[in-house]
Amino acid sequence: MALHCFKTALLDPQANGDFEDLNGYLEKCKKLEFQSRTGAFDLSDWILGDFRGDSPELAEYIGALQIERSEISGRGLFATKNIDAGTLILVTKAIATQRSILPAKDSGENAQMIMWRSLIDEVVDSTTKCQKTRELISILSTGEDEDALPVPDISLFRPESEMRSSSYEKLDTNRILSILDVNSLVEEAVSAKVMGKNSEYYGVGLWVLTSFINHSCHPNSRRLHVNDHVILHASRDIKAGEEITLAYFDVLSQLGKRKEMSKKWGFVCKCKRCKVEEGAYCEQEMREIEVSLERGVDVGGAIFRLEEGMRKRVVRGKERGYLRASFWGTYSEVYSTERLMRRWGRRIPAIESVVDSVVDAVGSDERILKIVMEGLKKNGGVGSGSSSSFLDMERAMKLGRGVYGKIAKKKAMRYLLGFD
Ligand SMILES: [Zn+2]
Repeated sequence: MALHCFKTALLDPQANGDFEDLNGYLEKCKKLEFQSRTGAFDLSDWILGDFRGDSPELAEYIGALQIERSEISGRGLFATKNIDAGTLILVTKAIATQRSILPAKDSGENAQMIMWRSLIDEVVDSTTKCQKTRELISILSTGEDEDALPVPDISLFRPESEMRSSSYEKLDTNRILSILDVNSLVEEAVSAKVMGKNSEYYGVGLWVLTSFINHSCHPNSRRLHVNDHVILHASRDIKAGEEITLAYFDVLSQLGKRKEMSKKWGFVCKCKRCKVEEGAYCEQEMREIEVSLERGVDVGGAIFRLEEGMRKRVVRGKERGYLRASFWGTYSEVYSTERLMRRWGRRIPAIESVVDSVVDAVGSDERILKIVMEGLKKNGGVGSGSSSSFLDMERAMKLGRGVYGKIAKKKAMRYLLGFD
């Protein structure tokens, strides 16, 4: 890494500045080397400065990961160790990105098309300039015959790795088009958060390793976008051997809705949660609750029925979290409406236990965090210093680490959560 830094400095006078500043430069190298070795990234200063100024320089980092054949689809990223919620898994820089503020309505589509073309040009350009980029991109799927693709060693993706002149297929523009079609990511997504000045833009890009991550309706990771880097972290605890997954669409929604969305993405989701919810033991009851909600029944009553049904059928642990996640919108409506809480509050579980089980099953989410923070503020918990508010704050901080990842010290995390 340090060597790579020096090379950059020698080739790029701007990254170097004057050699007078060699000490500052060495400091920077040391910091980047530390990041890429440990995965300990600290964006506190930038966050506390309200994201003003240049976004922090970030090293690339690959955590305890390997690429394996996936039961979900093709190849996937897998944890080789247990990973705690919030721990960073991967920090990687885009091969290419395009950003723009989209004009409203029809002309927006046009603007997207122009960005898409520029992205293609940028990728083609980088593949002609850099052999390593060309070889890394050629490893990516074109969406065809995914199960027959070779499984590359993750070390190929480390910045210092030397690619051997490989036998991977030749990259022509058509192939690059298919690869981008399957693998490019939009920065603003339900499982992503864009930080800093880019948050106002519509951004699209190609990040090589991130392309290996499959969808699940009980995902275990989220991504954060800082400048051209994507920072991936565990959104709940992950066990060694578990596949790293992201939500391609909103998983705080019911089975029928999720089926529709996965169809739009061109696949049928067969994740464990979908299988549980398709199971006969709850499908009919869930369907009845869905129908009654569509008819506009008392949402508190619907939650009460669901909880009673799960209690009778002894639905526990992750499975209970799955079902609650499917009706999260309804739960949050009840918990945030005083009138409903007066009526149903004593007959349904406390918000804390619902939040804990949903987060344990499908990972942390900004909307869950928001409800918890609103509750804290309403009850005067923030800064009141009582022991229960301390527990609530610990819970909020934990949720925050699940949403943003461990990217900041306590004070900056409190700032992100809106405590100060
Ligand atoms: Zn699913």
